[in-house]
Amino acid sequence: MQNKNSNNIINEFKKRQIKQYIITILVVLVLIYIQCDKFNLLIRKHIQINGFILILIIAICIFFSFFNWRCPACNVYLGRNIFPKYCNKCGSKLC
Ligand SMILES: [Zn+2]
Repeated sequence: MQNKNSNNIINEFKKRQIKQYIITILVVLVLIYIQCDKFNLLIRKHIQINGFILILIIAICIFFSFFNWRCPACNVYLGRNIFPKYCNKCGSKLC
């Protein structure tokens, strides 16, 4: 029973981790896009995105991350560590 539970936690954490990586990549792409303005790179001339939409994308990602990046067992926020092996609060094995 204990084993089945810990497998469920690991599987659930994997799903959350994949979602977390996707939104992290999205945020990095937005930040790169914003930086392109300073270096006057060609991307900005070909793809023009409104600044409000960029901020909205980042805000949604942070909001999503706040609810997604939690321990599947005790629901505590996992912080900035992107490869946690164990939950800091309940000690559940995550991967
Ligand atoms: Zn936990």
